Amino acid sequence: MDDRFQQPDKYESARINMVTVQILDRGISDTAVLRAMRKVPRHLFVPPEYRKEAYDDYPLPIGYGQTISQPYIVAFMTAAAMPAPQKKALEVGTGSGYQAAVLAETVKEVYSVEIVPELAKESAGRLAAMGYKNVKVRFGDGYKGWQEYSPFDIIIVTAAAEQVPQPLVEQLAGNGRLIIPIGAPQEVQELILLEKINGKIEKQRLTFVRFVPFRRL
Ligand code: SAH
Repeated sequence: MDDRFQQPDKYESARINMVTVQILDRGISDTAVLRAMRKVPRHLFVPPEYRKEAYDDYPLPIGYGQTISQPYIVAFMTAAAMPAPQKKALEVGTGSGYQAAVLAETVKEVYSVEIVPELAKESAGRLAAMGYKNVKVRFGDGYKGWQEYSPFDIIIVTAAAEQVPQPLVEQLAGNGRLIIPIGAPQEVQELILLEKINGKIEKQRLTFVRFVPFRRL
């Protein structure tokens, strides 16, 4: 990220406090994730009228019926993905671009797919203006992943699907981790972790979440 977007900004103390109270105190200890969450200016990813609430403990509307996830959930999913500086990540559901920015601070490259064309365009512009050079955003149906840049060490899906899209499983690297909310839309979903170990898929249930529905083109 460019220096001009770096701290201090007028929300810095709110952001540091958000990380302590909502994330660290709830048991997330991955230092790279905590560092990213302290750095990324979340208030620049929400519509101006919600800026004052950007560091509060809930999701916020970003237009087009979509939301930016609660900060804790972003931290939880990023930590569950086990980011590391050499890893390549795919995100399905760019939305505001915030999760992509948090990933970009913790891995080598991020590829993010968004099904609402306006959101894909806005978030690509926002991330570029902030100086993120290791994030690529494209409009499309993330069900199909992003074959060209596969395999991915990390795949994070930020919309609730009924089932795990098979192309995503195929685009997961060996020892890769896929995090996805599974369940009916408008209901509580389960956040699932799939790990590819020696070519086999191992599944773990992580927690309960509430995401906007996964759509298809
Ligand atoms: N990660 C986002 C929050 C996303 S909300 C952030 O940090 O702001 C979920 C997003 O997933 C919405 O923008 C929605 O349009 C998108 N989405 C839903 N189904 C999709 C699909 N099949 N492919 C790509 N994006 C999808």
